[in-house]
Amino acid sequence: MCKFQLTAHVYDSKDRFIAKAQNNYLKSHPFQADCAAKVGMPDKIFLHAEIAAIIKAQKISKDLSKIRIIRLGKDGSKLLSKPCPVCMEAIKLAGIQVILYFDKNTEQEIYVGQ
Ligand SMILES: [Zn+2]
Repeated sequence: MCKFQLTAHVYDSKDRFIAKAQNNYLKSHPFQADCAAKVGMPDKIFLHAEIAAIIKAQKISKDLSKIRIIRLGKDGSKLLSKPCPVCMEAIKLAGIQVILYFDKNTEQEIYVGQ
């Protein structure tokens, strides 16, 4: 089973929360498969939290601006939550400009503006 829990939250340009999702090792989606193929990782077909959240958010709003990624270990501690290349591709395609993830070394949330 999962060693960690990954949750992604998507916000619009007015910083309003739109949708969230968690990683899921049972479901896939064509958008996940497309992004995985594009970055040369075609076996990564199971939905990552970031992509699941983007798919949900796109059904609600066209204005996707920011994604926050939170990864928790079994003991509830925050772990590095930098998006993988597949998710980076999906984030770019969705037009999301700001990525927030946690860096365990600095114990801080990293802000990446595109
Ligand atoms: Zn990913």
